[in-house]
Amino acid sequence: MTQLTAGLQEIAPGVIKTQESMKNHTSLHIGGPADYLVTPQGINQLKGLLRFSRREVVPFFILGGGTNLLVSDRGIRGVVVKLEKPFKEIQFDGPKVTVGAGMSLPLMALRAAQQGLSGLEFAGGIPGTLGGAVGINAGAYGNCMADVVCSVTVLTWEGEVLEIEAEQLDFSYRCSGLLKKNWIVLEARLELVPGDSNGIRERMEGFLAQRRTKHPTEPSAGSVFKNLPEQPAGRLIEGAGCKGLRVGDAQVSPRHANFIVNLGSATFQDYMKVIIMVRERVFEKYGVWLNPEINMVGEES
Ligand SMILES: Cc1cc2nc3c(=O)[nH]c(=O)nc-3n(C[C@H](O)[C@H](O)[C@H](O)COP(=O)(O)OP(=O)(O)OC[C@H]3O[C@@H](n4cnc5c(N)ncnc54)[C@H](O)[C@@H]3O)c2cc1C
Repeated sequence: MTQLTAGLQEIAPGVIKTQESMKNHTSLHIGGPADYLVTPQGINQLKGLLRFSRREVVPFFILGGGTNLLVSDRGIRGVVVKLEKPFKEIQFDGPKVTVGAGMSLPLMALRAAQQGLSGLEFAGGIPGTLGGAVGINAGAYGNCMADVVCSVTVLTWEGEVLEIEAEQLDFSYRCSGLLKKNWIVLEARLELVPGDSNGIRERMEGFLAQRRTKHPTEPSAGSVFKNLPEQPAGRLIEGAGCKGLRVGDAQVSPRHANFIVNLGSATFQDYMKVIIMVRERVFEKYGVWLNPEINMVGEES
């Protein structure tokens, strides 16, 4: 056992996997191994892991549901932390909801609907966790997390637990100050609006039905590129003739041009080649460089 492994075992015994393939933890099923994948059993273990990483100068990455991630074929060096139980609690207090960072977003939206609370219908079909969704300000159908978040409890890189009001989170389109500052979301408080439970579920079901008809069924990480203010990225990609473009098993979905899917055994390299080809073709046709919405992580080849 290496000194590093022993140090981590001391902080979080029994919840450390070594050389864990990131294919098992990403919706794209792409990516090499993480040196260490740890699921801390509470805030003290999480703080301990952070302190250890800082002291030993070991890279530290916080993983949500892995649904917005493209991980390199060489994988992720250092410690990858996944917030499972006990970071999945949800508590209702009238229209206010306190949700743990590891909670599944679709499950949270469903629980809110069951309680007769409106505001999360848009999130019923967005996979991943609350932590990832707040971090990237996930959204759909004209709404986003910034519309419902009142405050977020974070763990800073220095190990401090702070409660940050929404106004200080710098939410913007698919981004927030949380990612820029490398703060770890522990939980968030949302303010929803009381409504009719059946009506809320119907709206949510309507959005889910739209997804079923428009989105591909193969593994993906959702939209690859950010939309432009004036038009969706998918329209430009389709207009540039990229639908069906394929390298290895990475393919621009023939169903939805802003999704690049994994047809089976796509690698990071395949996926990146498709991304680059799409960007170049769109630039040649429209003079616009598309910006990626997915997060790329891991050791470069
Ligand atoms: C089929 C499909 C459909 C999708 N549809 C949508 C959509 O409609 N709208 C949309 O916005 N997205 C969509 N996505 C993308 C993705 O589901 C969302 O962006 C989701 O919110 C990402 O959450 P995650 O937990 O999976 O984060 P991850 O992919 O694990 O991580 C994303 C980023 O968040 C950070 N992060 C994760 N957890 C935390 C935490 N606790 N604290 C701080 N940072 C954290 C990570 O470090 C990383 O930088 C879709 C994806 C798929 C596969």
